[in-house]
Amino acid sequence: MDNADSRRVRAQALEQGRMLFAQECEFVRGAADLGGIPATKLPEVAFVGRSNVGKSSLVNALTGRKTLARVSNTPGRTREINFFRLGGRLMLADLPGYGYARVSKADSAKWTELIFAYLAGRPNLRRVVLLIDSRRAPLPQDVEVMDLLDRAAVSYQLVLTKVDKLKPTELKNVEAQTKAESERHTAAYPEMAATSAETGEGIAELRASLAALAIR
Ligand code: GDP
Repeated sequence: MDNADSRRVRAQALEQGRMLFAQECEFVRGAADLGGIPATKLPEVAFVGRSNVGKSSLVNALTGRKTLARVSNTPGRTREINFFRLGGRLMLADLPGYGYARVSKADSAKWTELIFAYLAGRPNLRRVVLLIDSRRAPLPQDVEVMDLLDRAAVSYQLVLTKVDKLKPTELKNVEAQTKAESERHTAAYPEMAATSAETGEGIAELRASLAALAIR
């Protein structure tokens, strides 16, 4: 492919991402246990990260609306997996945040149990997007979740959040560190994304990469 061709392919992918995420994103339901997880044949992408990593902001930036994040931050729903249908072509699963300092050991064990059960029994799950705060990347808790995803043999993509807070040299270091960590994990997807919900950096590219998983 020459340069003009690859530019055309990239522009097409960006346009497909834009079109998909411009479509209706409707709340399907929240699931506190395995029984609550909706049956679907649609391909699914799950978002996961530490509390405060910027998950709601990123999902708002991707969908250009506040519905998804508002539902997911409603008290009672923050411990659930919240499912959304995007344009009838892709399911989005917003997994509860982890690593919140005041959570008890029992709650944290419950989190792991729900997530592991979900991951192990979801044949339509195409990818997990694991969010990493670029100022703190990656913390031991993030590495634990990477280990869990490796064990569940679910492919996941690391996405750095809040990159507007870093200088270019700092970002390079964090990217190198995160890449080195991801290379230690069997199920990590080699392509990493750097995003900012604040400036919109990396958002169109992430939309394009997720649109490739949606049904036509
Ligand atoms: P969640 O708990 O993972 O859903 O995190 P939120 O989306 O609620 O964000 C946590 C905090 O980080 C909030 O104060 C946001 O304003 C801030 N934040 C989120 N994304 C960004 C970003 O891209 N850039 C900056 N500078 N701040 C962000």
